[in-house]
Amino acid sequence: MIGVYLQNEEEREPAAEFFELFKTPWEFYREGESYDVLLSTGECPPLLGEKLVILYGSGPFLFDSNHGLTVDSLRGGSIVHDGYLDVPLYGEAATFPASDTPLLKVKGSARSAALVFNTGPRKVLRIGYNLFVEIRHLLTIGQPPEHAAIPSLDHHIALLRKWILGAGIPVMEIPPAPAGSDFMVCLTHDVDFAAIRNHRLDHTLAGFLHRALVGTPIDFLKGRSRWRKVVTNWKAAFQLPAVYAGVMKDPWTQYAEYLKIEKGMKSTFYFIPFRNRSGNGKSPARRSCRYDISDVRGWTAPILSQGGEIGLHGIDAWNDVSKGKEELERIRQATGTNEVGVRMHWLYFGLESPRILEQAGFLYDSTWGYNDAVGFRAGTGQPFRPAGARTLLELPLTIQDTALFYKGRMGLDEDSALELCRAVIDKARAFGGVLVVNWHHRSLAPERLWGEFYRKLLGEIGKKRVLFVTAREAVDWFQERRSAVFVRNGSGVRVSVHGNGRPSRLALRVYDPRSICLDSDVLHKVCGRTAEATEFFACEKRPPCPNPAPFSMG
Ligand SMILES: [Zn+2]
Repeated sequence: MIGVYLQNEEEREPAAEFFELFKTPWEFYREGESYDVLLSTGECPPLLGEKLVILYGSGPFLFDSNHGLTVDSLRGGSIVHDGYLDVPLYGEAATFPASDTPLLKVKGSARSAALVFNTGPRKVLRIGYNLFVEIRHLLTIGQPPEHAAIPSLDHHIALLRKWILGAGIPVMEIPPAPAGSDFMVCLTHDVDFAAIRNHRLDHTLAGFLHRALVGTPIDFLKGRSRWRKVVTNWKAAFQLPAVYAGVMKDPWTQYAEYLKIEKGMKSTFYFIPFRNRSGNGKSPARRSCRYDISDVRGWTAPILSQGGEIGLHGIDAWNDVSKGKEELERIRQATGTNEVGVRMHWLYFGLESPRILEQAGFLYDSTWGYNDAVGFRAGTGQPFRPAGARTLLELPLTIQDTALFYKGRMGLDEDSALELCRAVIDKARAFGGVLVVNWHHRSLAPERLWGEFYRKLLGEIGKKRVLFVTAREAVDWFQERRSAVFVRNGSGVRVSVHGNGRPSRLALRVYDPRSICLDSDVLHKVCGRTAEATEFFACEKRPPCPNPAPFSMG
């Protein structure tokens, strides 16, 4: 059991959320209680039998002067690392003198960012940043695009786990993926355009013609596109009169093609509630869409019958409760479901949005991501409770097609994009959570023609131990995990889960320090065993691990 002693009250919410994501036995420090691990963000409370004390904070603390430590402040935006994992820091942080055996080093400097002290049978770790200030930053402001590739929050969890194991203390946790899989995948589609026929002499049509007739040949000449795409796009442009005349199929109506490609995988479509609304009077007119959910009634039955989900592609819901309710109602009427999730059009979002969306009645939001990067804005792929919300979960968006390919965004060619996606998929495999992909509804069609890449991406994902789920199913699973509580049970810990009467899909994993070598270079090699989360589990009665397996931290 970890006891958490906080320096100030503002750390309470991010601390509680951090341990929802770590999902290991912990509680806020209670005087007189004995803990295996004491984690403090300030001076130490009176100690009892703790084997490990971890002091997080920029200080300076009394501990520092008692140990003759000179503390320097660290430049904001620095990266610290333990030899395996990088962690960008966003709050105040401190460095310590260089050490032969630092726990963390500052990148590009000889200084240490974390040190270990042995005081009798007890180990004390002095970490130069405040963990919960970092977590609050990650879950409210998020990481800048240049750090998108680093799952920083997951790295904070991995470091804490490693340090506890390094002190010879076992770690028990409910991993962030259902038993039998390494992570979940949500395939989602923002439907901004339902048909090209809805566009006549507007900027969308002009943009299409320009990119199809001029942009693709230029890309071909630069070696960034294939001749086949040039021909397909020219053909699509010259066939437009026949499409408008109703003689040819509309190339931008692609939902049935997605259902074919994603057979057996499930997917989530986000639809626009009202046509010709750009939103709250301040948005540019081109933000409005030329269709709404009432125009595509025929799509809902096939999507739902394949196990898919329909959610809201919101216009004003992010900053207006009453408009959010109105938009939500449009989706409820069309689908007959009460539980509706949302992703905002153009990823509009503010600090108040979680509270507003929750008050409007949404089950979850999946807006948090990047328009100009792919990866982990919150530093994790796990759905989390954003500040201001009590029930709503944020399901962060990981990979978006337009961010990868649009000029002015990342503007990648397909080979570089695939390499980047592979790296993100590998991180999801190592740390669990949900890989949320947004492939816009019209992206299979001319002039984008990103269908071949999408199939390759699904192939890459399919090589892993994954579970394809709808966004609502992913959020449901994480709600179940959040319902699990660890309770002291004599000298062990008991886990109880509210599974709504269904069999639990959670696993329990115990990392056993006896099966690892305590040499700091191989601390990552630990044994992860899983057991049913519904059974009692006492750490002391754990059988020795028969088969120590390497656990890769990616
Ligand atoms: Zn959109």
